[in-house]
Formats: sequence, C-alpha cells, structure tokens
Amino acid sequence: MKSYGSFTWPRRGRGKPPVPGAVSFAVMTPTLLDLPPAEARTRIAAWVAARGLPAYRAAQIERRLWTNPVGSWSEAAELPAGLRQALEQEWPLPRLTVASLETSADGTRKFLWRLADGEAVESVLIPSGARRTLCISSQAGCALGCVFCATGRMGFRRNLTPAEITGQVREIILRDPADRPTNIVFMGMGEPLLNWPAVDVALTILNDAEGFGIGARHITVSTVGILPGMEALRARPEQFRLAISLHAPRAEDRLGLMPIEKKYALNRVLAEAKRFGRRVTFEYVMIAGKNDRDEDADRLARLAQPLGAHVNLLPLHPGGAPGLLPSSGNRMRAFAGRLQSAGVEAVIRRSRGLDINAACGQLYVEMEKKRRPAAAARAG
Ligand code: SAH
Ligand code: SF4
Repeated sequence: MKSYGSFTWPRRGRGKPPVPGAVSFAVMTPTLLDLPPAEARTRIAAWVAARGLPAYRAAQIERRLWTNPVGSWSEAAELPAGLRQALEQEWPLPRLTVASLETSADGTRKFLWRLADGEAVESVLIPSGARRTLCISSQAGCALGCVFCATGRMGFRRNLTPAEITGQVREIILRDPADRPTNIVFMGMGEPLLNWPAVDVALTILNDAEGFGIGARHITVSTVGILPGMEALRARPEQFRLAISLHAPRAEDRLGLMPIEKKYALNRVLAEAKRFGRRVTFEYVMIAGKNDRDEDADRLARLAQPLGAHVNLLPLHPGGAPGLLPSSGNRMRAFAGRLQSAGVEAVIRRSRGLDINAACGQLYVEMEKKRRPAAAARAG
C-alpha cells in the first residue's frame, strides 16, 4: 500500500505566486481526515490496540470520520467518555467554519468557508431533483489567471489539504444529513491538477465505501489541461470523470483567455484527452465576440467530434470579468445548434444561483470588497 506518512502539507503561499506546477510546502502532521480510509483504519486499529481496547472500537471510531460523521469526538455517544477525551487529544477533527451562506431563489446554496489560517474558499450546493451536486474548491485562489475568472484575479494563496477539500462535503453533511451530496465537481476555486497529491487522496476519500461512498462516475475533475495531472488521473483505476476547460478552439484565441495555453498547448491537451480513454466533457464559457462565432463552433465541433466529447456551454458570469460580456441567448443557441448538427452533444448550462454570484470565486471577491473599506476606515 502507498504510504502517506511522509506526505507534506502546503503552507500559506501569499506573496509571489508559484510557477504553475510548483507548490510550496511545510511539513505538518496529517490528521485522520487527511488519510485515505484504509490508512486511517490501520492507524486507528494500532492506536486502539496500544490502549488495550477491544478491536470493535476501531470500527466505531472510523465510522465517525466520514460515513456517519461527528463534528467533534464529544458527539460520539457510543464511545465511553474517557475514549472520547483521548481521541480529542490525539486525533482532533479539523473543521471549516461558515463565513457566509447565501441561498439563491433557485435553491442553490453558496458556502464561504473560513480555514484554520484565515484563508477562505467556497463551495456551491446545487439541488436538481434527487441529485445534489456539490462544487468544491481545491486551492485558495488560483495561479493561472484566466481573464474571465474571479478566482484567477485573486492570485494563488495556497493549496488545500485533503481534509480541507473533503471537509467541504463533511461540513455539509454535519449541518444536515439530508443535504449529503450525490455528485461532486471540482469546479470551485483553484486548479485541482496543480494540487494533485491532496486531490489524489481526496478522490479516494470521496469515493471509498468507508469514506463518503460517492461513485467515481459521479465525481468530475475539471482542469485547464495540466498534463502531468491528467496522466495521474488516467492512471487511477476508478472511472472518475474529466472535464477540460477549453474555452476556445484555436490556440491563439485560447492564449488570449488562458495564459496556461503557453505551457500546456491545446493540441497536447487534446492528445492526452484522447489517451484518457473515457468520454470527456469540454467546458466552454461563452464570451461575446471572443469565442462565440460560427467559425468557432465549427472548429470546436472538429475537435470534439473525434473524441466523442460532450460540450457544456456556460454563459459568462459577468462578475468574474470586467470588460467582457456574455454571449446573447440567441448566439448561444445558434452555437449549440451548429455543434449538434455536426454530431456533437452540446448542452447550454443554466447559470445557477446567478442572484448570489455563484460562479468561480465571486463570493470571495464580494466579501473582500466589503471588507476593504472597513479596513481602510480602521487604518484611519
Ligand atoms: N481550474 C479549473 C477548475 C475550477 S474553474 C478549471 O478552470 O477547469 C471551474 C469552471 O468555472 C471552469 O470551467 C471555468 O471556466 C468556469 N468559470 C470561471 N470563471 C467563470 C465566469 N466568469 N463565468 C462562467 N464560468 C466561469
Ligand atoms: Fe484558475 Fe480555473 Fe479560474 Fe482559470 S478558470 S483562473 S484555472 S480557477
């Protein structure tokens, strides 16, 4: 079994943004919630045995991590008081706290979580019939600076740990077990494949039957096309889904929207998408006059068709990008129509939670705006 014992954890990365692909690390002891369930089980079993406790206690303890979680060990009523105290000492359960919660008219809820060191990340819970999709963050901020994205404008702050990534799911279940997410998308803040060591463990926790037990086909990793990360995801045996943020079918146009095109060029990303072997989704934010011409649709169709890729057309959320305008509804429908007549499955995604700015990084930017005048007033 792979050992995570020497795993190193990210530290606050404020200051100079890292080179894409590089991360700053500081060594810290992982908590139980940072470990793949199999490894957490081994550690708990050893700890239980060392204390001379019966082996069934280990299973009881493990269940309280993910399958039937508690916010703190004091809530685990099935355990004796002395054991609860010892667990609190040895294995405290890290928490995320809610900095703000907004509910949209369409039922979408947006959580802004405060992390232990003061950083903030967001998740968006999107109910749709029996399905509850949770959009989660993998980094505080993002180093990649896509021009239309509010998270990109924040710059990179730091990588999240596995406990912070999966904690977004855990906290929602702790608040109300009826909200347990059925689907996960890594489409919140950050580039998940630039935080692969933590995302790798988080995927196991999300999917494992002893973790949250969410089927791999219900978990989607969204990336701009970080090639080493795509290879690592491909190497996993589970059927996790991959979404590629394409946004323009020509390298020159893509470079104008996404600086990462310089490092991981479109043709290489598409070649890796082909090697992925499973059906991928292309994410395509529609920006008036930038990537929404008929000619773009035809080119996009030529890229998507041979891969059997599914195309998600997203209306640009205006808050993320001053100076850019969303394509009109008519333009989006015409664009989708051209893709469909070329045999490509294309869907126009409704912008959920528009009234609460539920797009990438929006809430955070709103909070900062409110906070800044207050800070200025304090500074006199
Ligand atoms: N970094 C990864 C995952 C997080 S971004 C990636 O880029 O794929 C998740 C999605 O939010 C991406 O598809 C991105 O294009 C989209 N997004 C970012 N800013 C947006 C905006 N202003 N309007 C609509 N979608 C946006
Ligand atoms: Fe980062 Fe994704 Fe936003 Fe680009 S779209 S800046 S990769 S979070």
